[in-house]
Amino acid sequence: MSRLTTPTFKVKKLWHIDLSTLRQAGVTTVLLDMDNTVVPWHSVQVPPKAAAWIHTAKQEGFRLYLLSNNLHSRVAPLAQQLEIIAVANACKPWRRGLRSLQRQHNVDISHSVMIGDQIFTDILAGNLWGTKTILVDPLFRREGRMTWLARTMERIIMKRSIQYGEEDQ
Ligand SMILES: [Mg+2]
Repeated sequence: MSRLTTPTFKVKKLWHIDLSTLRQAGVTTVLLDMDNTVVPWHSVQVPPKAAAWIHTAKQEGFRLYLLSNNLHSRVAPLAQQLEIIAVANACKPWRRGLRSLQRQHNVDISHSVMIGDQIFTDILAGNLWGTKTILVDPLFRREGRMTWLARTMERIIMKRSIQYGEEDQ
């Protein structure tokens, strides 16, 4: 399982990905997750750096596609704004979206990279399909500090209760 959930590369942001390194790695096709990779999940504002990276990648001859598990109504306007071919309801890590992309475009999987912020959708998908994979940090974290604090507290409490339980026996 760990091989399937381990990305080929890890970077903080999409726009940190060096295009010449991608080219040297034999990549010609870029499959992009949308939410939290290209645009914050709650927003329709594409960060200028993300838009610029996509623009440059296209200019340099990479073939780019958006592969999103989100709904068509969310994906289509952003795809139009970025002038990029997109598949909504992609069902990553399953092949539904990939198949529909392959039906219409000649996607060369062995020269593709899947880029996304989620291990169990994007990275697992790419590794199952046989692409290279790049994990990015989410552009916007749903979890605030309080959630993190609550989680940490839960762990401490769980640990203590187990220890007390053992002492009782
Ligand atoms: Mg995402």
